[in-house]
Amino acid sequence: MLRIIPRNDAAVQGNWQKELANAITDPKDLLQFLQLDPENFQSDIAARKLFPMRVPLSFAKRMQKANPNDPLLLQVLPQQAEFMEVAGFNEDPLEEHQAAVPGLLHKYKSRVLFIVRGGCAVNCRYCFRRHFPYQDNSPNKQGWQQALDYIAQDQAINEVIFSGGDPLMANDQQLAWLIEQLEQIPHLKRLRIHTRLPVVIPSRVTNELTQLLAQTRLQTIMVSHINHPNEINQELSSAFAKLHEAGITLLNQGVLLKDINDDASILAQLSEALFSANILPYYLFLLDKVAGAAHYDIDEQSAVAIMQDLYQRLPGFLVPRLAREQAGKRSKTPIDIGLS
Ligand code: SF4
Repeated sequence: MLRIIPRNDAAVQGNWQKELANAITDPKDLLQFLQLDPENFQSDIAARKLFPMRVPLSFAKRMQKANPNDPLLLQVLPQQAEFMEVAGFNEDPLEEHQAAVPGLLHKYKSRVLFIVRGGCAVNCRYCFRRHFPYQDNSPNKQGWQQALDYIAQDQAINEVIFSGGDPLMANDQQLAWLIEQLEQIPHLKRLRIHTRLPVVIPSRVTNELTQLLAQTRLQTIMVSHINHPNEINQELSSAFAKLHEAGITLLNQGVLLKDINDDASILAQLSEALFSANILPYYLFLLDKVAGAAHYDIDEQSAVAIMQDLYQRLPGFLVPRLAREQAGKRSKTPIDIGLS
């Protein structure tokens, strides 16, 4: 399909890239911005060497000033607890460091995970890919060709999931090229984009991106990653409204995180706020047991109790499915929350 993507609306595209380039990377700067004294966080700050800190200003602005327990801050600030070695937590909890070809993970029969870009706009401390060797799995345009050839040769694949890192770190021209290649593979039906970038930098939803996703013959689903209602502000809602109006299916998946959203009333507020922003709650994951993130973990029994409470508060369509990912399993493992 011949598609005309207007050559960069430079001002708009430039905006998100500027925001990305100006993300806060020094924990002291973030703490000072939030009117917190870095001297009180010295042992936490040391954990940045385990996984760099990265926080766009737009996201930092949604944090409450002078609150060391802010639920958005707790997702991104390095913490001393990351040095703890905990049995059962390792660097590759989903055993995905072996790719089918560089940049392509073939975990499920009909779906492949296409690692479009290695980096992210925000570094979430609980990320299951915090140790992922992106340097070996972050191909450029030539490298993408190998992944495209793999997909073209396997007729069982009907869906491509753009992943990362964050796939929207690629610019609109690069995405246009990639989507055009995928459209030419007849057995592909759907394109799914897993991203947190428009959450932390809503200006990433450019008119060009919206148009690109609206025009493709592939059914397009965007799966955002939002964990707490405070992440949803007017700027985010306006950006997602554009996608909604363009006919993109919008779903959200979050992670259950200790002291951040492990509470039915917070999760109920999150679902309500998501739906107001035209996004349907889809999955709520138990933490992947990645080394350095054990302090975010919730045991399964407590998670089930939270979900039972959530069902009392919300209509069924606003309750996300509780699940976990397990290494070697071909699909996500739903958790029985004992309602039947
Ligand atoms: S945006 Fe997603 S992939 Fe990137 S650090 Fe956060 S959880 Fe990990």
